Amino acid sequence: ANLPASDLLSQLNPNQAQAADHYTGPALVIAGAGSGKTRTLIYRIAHLIQHYGADPGEILAVTFTNKAAAEMRERAKHLVKGADKLWMSTFHSAGVRILRAYGEHIGLRRGFVIYDDDDQMDILKEIMGAVPGIGPDTNPRVLRGILDRAKSNLQVPADLERWPEPYISGLPRETAAEVYRRYEARKKGQNAIDFGDLITETVRLFKEVPGVLDRVQDRACFIHVDEYQDTNKAQYELTRLLASRDRNLLVVGDPDQSIYKFRGADIQNILDFQKDYADAKVYMLEHNYRSSAKVLGIANRLIENNSERLEKTLLAVKDDGHPVVFHRATDHRAEGDFVAEWVTRLHGQGQKLTDMAILYRTNAQSRVIEESLRRVQIPAKIVGGVGFYDRREIRDILAYARLAINPDDDVALRRIIGRPRRGIGDTALEKLMEWARLNQTSILTACANCVEQGILDRGAQKPKEFADLMAAMSDAADNYLPGPFFRFVIENSGYLDLLRQEGQEGQVRLENLEELVSAAEEWSQTNDGTIGDFLDDAALLSSVDDMRAKKENRDVPEEAVTLMTLHNAKGLEFPTVFIVGTEEGLLPSKNALLEASGIEEERRLFYVGITRAMDRLFLTAAQNRMQFGKTNAAEDSRFLEEIEGGFDTIDPYGQVIEYRAKTWKEYRPTVPSRPSAPTFVHPSAVKNTSSMTAEMAYRGGEKVTHPKFGAGQVLAVAGMGERQEVTVHFPSVGTKKLLVKFANLSLA
Ligand code: ATP
Ligand code: MG
Repeated sequence: ANLPASDLLSQLNPNQAQAADHYTGPALVIAGAGSGKTRTLIYRIAHLIQHYGADPGEILAVTFTNKAAAEMRERAKHLVKGADKLWMSTFHSAGVRILRAYGEHIGLRRGFVIYDDDDQMDILKEIMGAVPGIGPDTNPRVLRGILDRAKSNLQVPADLERWPEPYISGLPRETAAEVYRRYEARKKGQNAIDFGDLITETVRLFKEVPGVLDRVQDRACFIHVDEYQDTNKAQYELTRLLASRDRNLLVVGDPDQSIYKFRGADIQNILDFQKDYADAKVYMLEHNYRSSAKVLGIANRLIENNSERLEKTLLAVKDDGHPVVFHRATDHRAEGDFVAEWVTRLHGQGQKLTDMAILYRTNAQSRVIEESLRRVQIPAKIVGGVGFYDRREIRDILAYARLAINPDDDVALRRIIGRPRRGIGDTALEKLMEWARLNQTSILTACANCVEQGILDRGAQKPKEFADLMAAMSDAADNYLPGPFFRFVIENSGYLDLLRQEGQEGQVRLENLEELVSAAEEWSQTNDGTIGDFLDDAALLSSVDDMRAKKENRDVPEEAVTLMTLHNAKGLEFPTVFIVGTEEGLLPSKNALLEASGIEEERRLFYVGITRAMDRLFLTAAQNRMQFGKTNAAEDSRFLEEIEGGFDTIDPYGQVIEYRAKTWKEYRPTVPSRPSAPTFVHPSAVKNTSSMTAEMAYRGGEKVTHPKFGAGQVLAVAGMGERQEVTVHFPSVGTKKLLVKFANLSLA
């Protein structure tokens, strides 16, 4: 091809450059792992701007996580000017933004809140009792699963009624439809939407109000979707609508890495792209730049075992490199120790801890690994799991904030009306709820009118006081930045006193709340938004996202090994990767064994894991594993057999032995008395990593500079240490009160 001379494209191989040079019309980049799909997508955006003169403000790129979006923007900034105007986000964040701006057209009221999984469960538990046909043994999670899947597929309650089979996940279809209907009504009454709605409501908005679609399309003339193989029907439809006017849609993906079927992702979306867009240009990338030839070899061999797949070529650019290592440990603890030893060894050889990742199938596997790492004093950063924003005290304070900006949020109210206790018992709450239902209003309104309306016989003053408190918080929400607002809430809700009485545990929770204030302060430094915007962001943080991970690991130094699930590792790469628990029942997981397509999905998941490795790959399994409190014999994963010969096996003492699948029961290593066990404590792991910033003292009259507000002059200083506040006058924005800790001021 005749490529235009361009610095940008010269950093790509010819196939990548062709794809990046794609100008208008639909295009599909379909290629294996590590072939530079994401890189090509970023270069295409930069090239569009630089070479074709596209306005960054009309370019949209959808990624799988907020973190990926931020990284993409960062990389684009290095390549081309104006990249900060790019619209880069996840489907969900895009949905929030669109619905915040135009949701009123479809009846969403201003200030609506986003319900997360737990809030969903709260509503479902409440509904369950009232819907006939639901037994006491029905798990609300099953209901949530039904709703989530329906939404991924753009199905409304009536669709469940017309379900081809009489039962949906064990529930009569009529019952499922009824739950769905009531759930929607309840949510609507509380001015809330859930995660699924972020997509489905946006789709509905676009369909019902074409004018809005048109406005959004002006902002998205060139659309990119990374990881297209994991889109579900609703996301597919959203993409289709967005692209319907200008048809400049470039999607990138790898069908072999589709791993979210359980959440409704449909691999058919990428396979049918050429059917949907007959004039689509298809670009194939055939060289893998990420992994050593050895690693890529086993990845390719593994994935060939899937029956329904699109054949692709994927050739290694790198050499063989290090051997791939398999290690079968006696039990899960020994497995953890093996990993910890190798991490220590590699670290001792100079590899950075941030260059190593340990991947597992289920979150529960992380605990043992963490313990092993702790014994050798290797810091670990856990991505996912119970995140910062899932902690009870954080969720409580966020619930106060939600109720402060949306008085209709009954779910939030019920969460916090008794935390701390304020003398409103269950019966009183029942009566308030009853009154609210009869009058079709919120529980908070019931509280406010409790005295005049005589809703309660005794103690009617208490709900009134609560309503007054919430009114004060609403005021604060309108007038404070997020950080000071949360401090206000923590102090005035009575929560602070509650935790102070809880001793040691309360102290930990208090520190977490401090962290929330910090998170909000930090957020304000890069965002101009309101408290509502902060809540949106907090709700949207997916488990791979930085903010949550960072807060979750607040005592972990930057330099740490990464621990995460295989799912969360998608799209990432690390020089060294460990995949633990390559056993039947774990990988493939027990649930997947029920159907053939389940095994194929697990194989893709393993493929994703293997292809994260750049230079070194370790696979481990245990012969005995404790799960759910019981230790059982474990069997090697069937996938190991499929890639047999592609890796070397080493025994616990580092000797290479022959791998024989499934015959481990015969295998008894003749181990000499253990050589003086090496102690793998790396000196750098022991040094004190706590980082206290030097105390800074400001005096009135001093000239300072703020990264955002520019030059200013200190008017007053109050408080000390962590809580020191300065009042600064900035000619650019006026007078501001700032916490020294977060203000990033420097002396001018
Ligand atoms: P995945 O399927 O895992 O998402 P991908 O196809 O998106 O992978 P990238 O992450 O874009 O692949 O690229 C993999 C690695 O190879 C990256 O480190 C990238 O910088 C590097 N790479 C890709 N293409 C080239 C190239 N032409 N020259 C040098 N390095 C490249
Ligand atoms: Mg990628």
